[in-house]
Amino acid sequence: MGALGGPGVARALEGGENSKVFVEPERELPMVRDADVIVCGAGPAGVSAAITAARAGAKVRLFEWRGCLGGVWTAGLLGWLIDFDKPGLTAELKRHLTERGLNRGGSESNLCYDPEGMKLLLEELCAEAGVMFQLHTKVSAAFKEGNRLTTIVTESKSGREAWRAPVFIDTTGDGDLGALAGCAFEIGEAEDCPCQPMSLNALLVCKDVGLLGDFVRYNETAEEGKSNSDKKDLFRAEIERAGHFPSYSKPTLWQIRDNLLLVMMNHEYGVKPFDAAAVTAATVRARAELHRIVNGLRALGGGWEGLQIAATAEQIGVRDGRRIRGRYVVSAEDLKTGARHEDGVTRATFAVDIHALSAEHNKKAGYTNRGIKTQPYDIPLRALLARDVEGLMMAGRCISGDFIAHSSYRVTGNAVAMGEAAGVTAAIAAATKRLPHEVDWKEGAAKLAAMRQRG
Ligand SMILES: Cc1cc2nc3c(=O)[nH]c(=O)nc-3n(C[C@H](O)[C@H](O)[C@H](O)COP(=O)(O)OP(=O)(O)OC[C@H]3O[C@@H](n4cnc5c(N)ncnc54)[C@H](O)[C@@H]3O)c2cc1C
Repeated sequence: MGALGGPGVARALEGGENSKVFVEPERELPMVRDADVIVCGAGPAGVSAAITAARAGAKVRLFEWRGCLGGVWTAGLLGWLIDFDKPGLTAELKRHLTERGLNRGGSESNLCYDPEGMKLLLEELCAEAGVMFQLHTKVSAAFKEGNRLTTIVTESKSGREAWRAPVFIDTTGDGDLGALAGCAFEIGEAEDCPCQPMSLNALLVCKDVGLLGDFVRYNETAEEGKSNSDKKDLFRAEIERAGHFPSYSKPTLWQIRDNLLLVMMNHEYGVKPFDAAAVTAATVRARAELHRIVNGLRALGGGWEGLQIAATAEQIGVRDGRRIRGRYVVSAEDLKTGARHEDGVTRATFAVDIHALSAEHNKKAGYTNRGIKTQPYDIPLRALLARDVEGLMMAGRCISGDFIAHSSYRVTGNAVAMGEAAGVTAAIAAATKRLPHEVDWKEGAAKLAAMRQRG
């Protein structure tokens, strides 16, 4: 049988031709057992987990569905790093971006970067660390022995393949692996999922960024003086002047370099992230809105003359996915009180950031913090350890937390720090034949500190 398998014998359940259920035939898959740690999803959290586990001595496999590493950073054309003033890989990434001339503006904590350059950088860092990464490969099934996750199945042009390892990390953003393995999870604010909206970002080119200084953040050729909030409001007024009220009422333009800009200016409301047809429709609507706005701005002339979309993102940005239930749930209370934990793996500082949940909300405000004042708070390792399944960790936006806390910790500086913590813990667990929850964070923290000192 080839890698794609044979056709199998189709069998419908009772009901014959009218059956609404199809029983997939059993088949044998090739099984690979060459990794200590398998990381599923290569966004900011996944690449950080994989690089860190590999640097800690583990053999690491990293699977990514899209055609590049980086997740929302790259396939999502994000363009803006938040809560990035941390030691370790965040500092290292900033150093590399600066050396390559790929970042601009902002502060130590928040800065703009070039998504195309980020793709190359992440591939180089993963290759250097010895991470075995595979693109275009979707994690599609998970199997346990007892309560321990032991095997995953991927789908790709190579067909269905099984992969076995002692430790797995779910960094799919959407919590796919945790859900496939049977973990409890939550989505959005309540059961019927009022979720944060999705946004499709885009790269734009303009003729002379110097003429757009009132609207563009970190515009090196224009005089600064207007606040970022002023710039968003002025940009929205221009979009309205061009005849359209944007579905994100705080649209933002960043200068990547020269006349290359990044834009976030749309919201898609109430889209369930696990409904492929709904996500497709949202992507199509969002792309049409982006083109409508850019065509309208171009028609205004002046500084907007010649404005064009260079590329829309491959992946619409999903803010809210599954939050896999862990051994601790990071909560709104933690943010309000500035929680401290002995197993704190990073200290998050970003504010509560809930984007409008409907078009009606958007007319009043593009986003809100609901009056919650965030104190810097710890994310404990327990929030990265699946409660219901052994041998499984999470990092990034699918960790264990409530809706409000997620709206703060989801930004990418925290995703990187969580990835490092999960990566080092998984590597120690695999090397010492323990489960991740049996590894004390003191061991992980000491190993990370030693690795950072070695450079
Ligand atoms: C529109 C938008 C704007 C945002 N703005 C900012 C901002 O300005 N600054 C900031 O720092 N953060 C921002 N965030 C938040 C941040 O980008 C995300 O929360 C962050 O990317 C989380 O990182 P992650 O690695 O957990 O997930 P992701 O970046 O979503 O990465 C998950 C990866 O897993 C892959 N994957 C998913 N399922 C599977 C599967 N079954 N098999 C294999 N691979 C899979 C995906 O393709 C993806 O590459 C924004 C998010 C969105 C959506």
